[in-house]
Amino acid sequence: MKPYFKTTLLLSAIYLAPGILQAAEVNLYSARKEALIKPLLDQFTERTGVTVNLVTGKADALLQRLTSEGDNTPADLLITTDAGRLHRAKEAGVLQPVASAALDAAVPEQYRDADDQWYGLSVRARVMMIAPDRVDESKLKSYQDLANEEWKGRICIRSSNNIYNQSLIASMIAHQGEEQTEAWAKGLVENFARPPAGGDRDQIKGVAVGQCDIAVANTYYLGGMLTGSDETQRAMAQEVKVIWPNQESTGAHVNVSGAGVVKAAKNKENAIKLLEFLVSDEAQKWYAEENSEYPVKAGVGISDLLKSWGEFKADDLAMDKLGELNDEAVRLMDRAGWR
Ligand code: FE
Repeated sequence: MKPYFKTTLLLSAIYLAPGILQAAEVNLYSARKEALIKPLLDQFTERTGVTVNLVTGKADALLQRLTSEGDNTPADLLITTDAGRLHRAKEAGVLQPVASAALDAAVPEQYRDADDQWYGLSVRARVMMIAPDRVDESKLKSYQDLANEEWKGRICIRSSNNIYNQSLIASMIAHQGEEQTEAWAKGLVENFARPPAGGDRDQIKGVAVGQCDIAVANTYYLGGMLTGSDETQRAMAQEVKVIWPNQESTGAHVNVSGAGVVKAAKNKENAIKLLEFLVSDEAQKWYAEENSEYPVKAGVGISDLLKSWGEFKADDLAMDKLGELNDEAVRLMDRAGWR
């Protein structure tokens, strides 16, 4: 037999046995930093014998890739770090609904898609962080307060093309309508200490070095600075104090990192198995703690650092609203002059 045929036969044999080859793997597209998920994936493999093939990338790039790969995508599961992008993935038609009693029991309704196309895996809050010696806390109790004249030239917040800000604005539109939110956003822009630049950590640094007195940032960035190896960042983070917004009204704006099973998944069962593992008590604790986040599942303990920031009331708005109102939020921020 000529070598050509040998190869062909061998390939056919592999091709004809997809069940055997695919039974023990799951392909993951993840927008989560590898260090924040890999140890957990290894644990999953150890427990179940299912190999996880991890592709890490930026959320938008992964979504683009999923869309262009279509039915030919090798991906079974998509992980992103905010509800807005999970919603985009759903809208793009690359996810599928999942029926899992374990997921439904572990993930509160608020933190999952109404059609079960994605599930939150960890919770983060977007809060105010202040220089306690320069800010009178009694005058800063809500996101709404950020637009007060008192804070003119004193607020650091990143740009409007950041999805976390878009989701915050979407939540405000959901609660108080577009008109009121737009007037508020204009006031907020008036109070910027500097043109928006950098990430959430840079806003916290802005407060620490005195460029501004109030930063708006996600809690885990402060956690990351406090627990990281960079001494300067640790010292800076110690300068700021967390203010839980809207505790007497709607609660602090929260978002989730989460995951959805890909529509064209060839290893759907393993993808669901992995999702279920990620909401187990043990995984929840590790997953949330590694990035200073809050577990999505009730009753799972949090780290001492998170405890030190105190308990808070979270906004109970359904996460899918954030995605649904995203376009409106982006246009509103643009009209308000938020660059
Ligand atoms: Fe982030």
